[in-house]
Amino acid sequence: MNDLRSAIRTISDYPKPGIEFRDISTLLGNPRAFRRAVDELVQPYAGSRIEKVAGIEARGFILGGAIAHQLSCGFVPIRKKGKLPHQTVSISYALEYGTDEMEMHVDAVTRGEEVILVDDLIATGGTATAAVQLLQKLGAEVVAACFVIDLPDLGGARKIEALGVPVRTLVGFPGH
Ligand code: AMP
Repeated sequence: MNDLRSAIRTISDYPKPGIEFRDISTLLGNPRAFRRAVDELVQPYAGSRIEKVAGIEARGFILGGAIAHQLSCGFVPIRKKGKLPHQTVSISYALEYGTDEMEMHVDAVTRGEEVILVDDLIATGGTATAAVQLLQKLGAEVVAACFVIDLPDLGGARKIEALGVPVRTLVGFPGH
């Protein structure tokens, strides 16, 4: 997994002092690493009954689109409030300061559909928890949540597993 780790660029003190920003744009720009990340994330689900891949705006769209193609699934965007044109369901979730809202189209998934959730990175798990709840609100069965990067010290993956959703991650970094 070393080539994946070394394909991720770390930018210190971005977007604010004390944060080590894990930048996957270098991984996406590296043909071998991009393919490897997508292949490794989907490997347990090849041949399964997954019908949709849901990606979290914005980096989850890039990975989720590639994963959906690989699994011959549909793709569902989970977006920031106000971006989707049709009727939506929404959920608000806590940020470090204040709250935010994410939305999906009401008809993006159907009851009982098996769905995989995708984002680039899981930190505290707040974003992914809200996305899981949104999918479940529409009756989807969230089969797994997949991330290239885990920040295990922040406990997000454990939070998602406590919801009964298995988590798949490829590279862990200490701290936040
Ligand atoms: P959280 O809700 O705390 O799990 O944060 C996850 C979301 O914030 C993901 O959409 C990530 O893209 C972004 N994020 C959080 N921490 C970092 C970090 N250190 N580097 C890059 N992205 C991050």
